[in-house]
Amino acid sequence: NADSAMYRAKEKGRNGCYFFTQAMDIEAQRRRTLEQALHQALDNKELSLSFQPIIDLKTGEIASCEALVRWCNPIHGTISPEEFIPLAEDVGLIVPIGEWVLKKACLAAMCWSEIDKLIHTSISVNLSSYQFKKQNIVDLVNKNLVESGLPSKRLTLEITEGLLVNDDENTLSQLQQLRGLGVSLSIDDFGTGYSSLSYLKKFPINYLKIDRAFVTDLAENKEDRALVEGILSMANSLQLHVVAEGVETKEQVAFLKSKNCAYVQGYLYSKPLSEIAFKQFLESKK
Ligand code: C2E
Ligand code: MG
Ligand code: MG
Ligand code: MG
Repeated sequence: NADSAMYRAKEKGRNGCYFFTQAMDIEAQRRRTLEQALHQALDNKELSLSFQPIIDLKTGEIASCEALVRWCNPIHGTISPEEFIPLAEDVGLIVPIGEWVLKKACLAAMCWSEIDKLIHTSISVNLSSYQFKKQNIVDLVNKNLVESGLPSKRLTLEITEGLLVNDDENTLSQLQQLRGLGVSLSIDDFGTGYSSLSYLKKFPINYLKIDRAFVTDLAENKEDRALVEGILSMANSLQLHVVAEGVETKEQVAFLKSKNCAYVQGYLYSKPLSEIAFKQFLESKK
């Protein structure tokens, strides 16, 4: 009858609400535990770097590689950087983690340069916007170049559109000083952040990395082809080099080649590799 139907609905509603708050609790709980674990991660040597080759499409050679941080915790297992980097940003741990990544990456690239002929292999390091706000990033980069001995032209810093939209004079000055050191600047995940492109003429950028989201369906999707073609022709006019991310198929490569994309990165060539495996990959290409 109507009364008991009403009663069941209320119960259900209450249960629904209960499950909802329970899900939020679990999520908040995971965040708190991960946050605590992340505080120890550096000291406990749970972080490592992987390196993914970036290929020159014209020559087929390795042009550079991207350093990607990894976190493997004995209790929580492997945690994706997509989960723990935002957490590290929220609690300020991005500063020590970012310092560690930069140091390790410069030393690794320097070590490879001792392999004859690999002298030109450069390295890309991801920087969080928080690192520009919370520390002197110019001093940090300079210090790591000096201490590792890595020539500045072999270091590229990947930044995101989010850093550039605020039209901040301080950001502009930091980026100009970084360029002054001789390092290159690359816009990561290009096309996913903001619709305004005016920052491209204001900031001293060298590379655009087309986000995987535009590359994945290139073969099937003509809108994606139009977007990628548009980005490539704009980049060409602005004298920016383009790296296409997340390249997994030969069809994607054929299209990117036909539109004069300079560089590609993706599982078709290699997944991110451990330092030892990357060194072997380099040697196998000699
Ligand atoms: P990102 O900088 O755009 O890095 C590219 C991501 O795409 C990497 O994921 C890489 O493993 C993945 N990828 C590369 N090729 C392919 C492919 O062919 N197919 C597919 N499906 N994926 C591919 P990862 O390593 O999980 O990193 C995710 C994000 O975490 C990075 O995106 C970057 O935003 C952030 N990140 C990683 N390391 C660092 C770091 O040291 N510092 C900072 N601030 N952020 C980092
Ligand atoms: Mg990146
Ligand atoms: Mg990217
Ligand atoms: Mg990304």
